[in-house]
Amino acid sequence: MKIGFIGLGIMGKPMAKNLIKAGHELTVYDIVSSAVDDVVAAGARRGDSNADVARNSELIITMLPNSPHVKEAVMGENGVLDGVKPGTILVDMSSINPIASKEICAEVEKKGCFMLDAPVSGGEPKAIDGTLAIMVGGKQEVFDKVKDILGVMGASVTRCGNIGAGNTTKLANQIIVAANIAAVGEALVLGKKAGVEPEAIYKAIRGGLAGSTVMDAKAPMMMDGNFKPGFRINLHIKDLNNAIDTGHDVGAPLPLTATVMEMMQWLKSSGHDTEDHSSLVRYYEFLSGTDVRR
Ligand code: NAD
Repeated sequence: MKIGFIGLGIMGKPMAKNLIKAGHELTVYDIVSSAVDDVVAAGARRGDSNADVARNSELIITMLPNSPHVKEAVMGENGVLDGVKPGTILVDMSSINPIASKEICAEVEKKGCFMLDAPVSGGEPKAIDGTLAIMVGGKQEVFDKVKDILGVMGASVTRCGNIGAGNTTKLANQIIVAANIAAVGEALVLGKKAGVEPEAIYKAIRGGLAGSTVMDAKAPMMMDGNFKPGFRINLHIKDLNNAIDTGHDVGAPLPLTATVMEMMQWLKSSGHDTEDHSSLVRYYEFLSGTDVRR
């Protein structure tokens, strides 16, 4: 299948390369032309614009930062909708506001085309390995056409409902991860202040009900003071903003999310927004005047 790939950043670049490895013919574009070089060297055709990518593709994948970038790439000047033929499928794999996904889909369908929202969980290592978790929203018959292609980039590809459902699921994921990291940080700092080593607490409870993938990934980082991303605070702020906006829109108050968001705002104003989100522990360390380093 002729595939277009737009947005060749941390995630998009390895995802596009995996599609080339699987034998697909790719046309690629990024507003930063140097981002394209690596993927062209791996065998892709260099597109001149988002519209040019669309003209040369039956399936177009976008992997962009947030809702305004996807709207610009799809609906903006010389964008995807200026180049598409009826029947083309757009799969937006960016993590954006599900309300924006619905708005973009409405415009895509006016051109006789189809759209899925398909954000991912897993970060750069899983993008490289092709083992992302992909959560998809959109029509079943469109999903069925592209499921195997998405499977080249992911270990799991799950349809969660109609358009917007992929991003709603991703927001649910981001809420649970943020609250879980905050709880781990809060608990380890309590232990330290009360005279119990955070390491001992972690070892004692990780196999019980409190244990989690988040705890196993992030508690060691907190105790090592290793805040190299991983997943950056500023990206998590973007996702929680989208969650809060969506919650307000549909009438689902998110008090826990709002609290963690304000903690992340403190990290941002303290200059830690490019660190891994495990640096949430710094907030508790600041409040209590201690740290949880081993
Ligand atoms: P990134 O900033 O590294 O890459 C985005 C790319 O999009 C950049 O190269 C940028 O130049 C390009 N771009 C922006 N506007 C464009 C336009 N109008 N037309 C063409 N190209 C344009 O971001 P990333 O880390 O690859 O993340 C992409 C998405 O995946 C985000 O929504 C992010 O939240 C999500 N995500 C990231 C991770 C992670 O660990 N980095 C994990 C899961 C999900």
